Amino acid sequence: MRIIKDKKLIMQNQTPKILIVDDSPIQIEYLKECLVKIGFEIHATTKGSEAMEIAESLMPDLILLDVIMPKDDGYSICKMLKSKELTRDIPVIFITAKTEKRDKIEGFNIGAFDYITKPFYHEEVEARVKNAISLKLSRDELKRKNDILEVLSIRDELTILYNRRYILKRLDEEIERAKRYNRFFSCIMIDIDYFKKVNDTYGHPGGDIVLRYMGDMLRKNLRTVDIAARYGGEEFMLLLPETDLAGSKVVAEKLRHLVSNGFPPEGLPQDFKFTISLGIAIYPYHGDNKERLIKAADEALYAAKAAGRNCYKAYSLNR
Ligand code: GH3
Ligand code: MG
Ligand code: MG
Repeated sequence: MRIIKDKKLIMQNQTPKILIVDDSPIQIEYLKECLVKIGFEIHATTKGSEAMEIAESLMPDLILLDVIMPKDDGYSICKMLKSKELTRDIPVIFITAKTEKRDKIEGFNIGAFDYITKPFYHEEVEARVKNAISLKLSRDELKRKNDILEVLSIRDELTILYNRRYILKRLDEEIERAKRYNRFFSCIMIDIDYFKKVNDTYGHPGGDIVLRYMGDMLRKNLRTVDIAARYGGEEFMLLLPETDLAGSKVVAEKLRHLVSNGFPPEGLPQDFKFTISLGIAIYPYHGDNKERLIKAADEALYAAKAAGRNCYKAYSLNR
């Protein structure tokens, strides 16, 4: 990897990629000379018709685009780049002999980042390119951080399952969807049995191992459309779309069986065992709004605990 002189660019730990689109090979060589020595990875094409395809596969950090080319002119290529989600955020600098004010304004109107007019100097190209790249890389970094924040805001840090806030929002949406299409879905509450004893015997870190194990187990054994969340301390909530009572019982029994017969979580003794209790409620039969459905699943869970734990119970209207 080439050494990048610009401090801001070094921080990104990657060599910025530039795509030059110019019908003149001499012009391309000249631009390359300006840019290679500051450590950018340069790609070039003399065919405007290839620009879009290369941009989509290469995903450069900047495109230097000649305006006047024999077939596709730079303006229409720029318009195309800006119209596609994938390439919209790649900055474009026009390189052109057009010096008319209205030509420049047109370029900015269709989304150009900057203009370099011919004839130009090494130093000018270098400065304008560095400017564009550094802005692009800061924007990428901001987007990456926003993406991480978005994930963190809906996930539980310990188990990486969804958090309570997120599943309650999804529950609202699921109810809306089921209401509109006259459908049903299942809500299952899970609570670890005698979890206080796990904490007492193995300490909080031991308890955390069990919680993480639950996260992995649920992730591995549910369908992708199912939603699993850590609802509270050692309580979990599942939403299973399009699942009726019979289907929910199969899922509940499978999870119960996996926990009580599975290998002990890594980090705990070989003879360590734990179990879970589960409560099932089906929308809309056992609760026709959020509060009533959760209450029904909670009551069913309580019934499972009362029945001796390590079992599931469905909500019963006659209880
Ligand atoms: P039961 O079978 O009735 O559910 O018994 P239990 O001991 O599991 O009782 P309960 O569900 O009422 O208690 C939950 C305990 O879980 C209380 C607390 O000590 C523990 N706990 C809650 N959150 C956490 C956590 O984030 N980490 C750990 N290690 N323990 C937690
Ligand atoms: Mg509990
Ligand atoms: Mg418990």
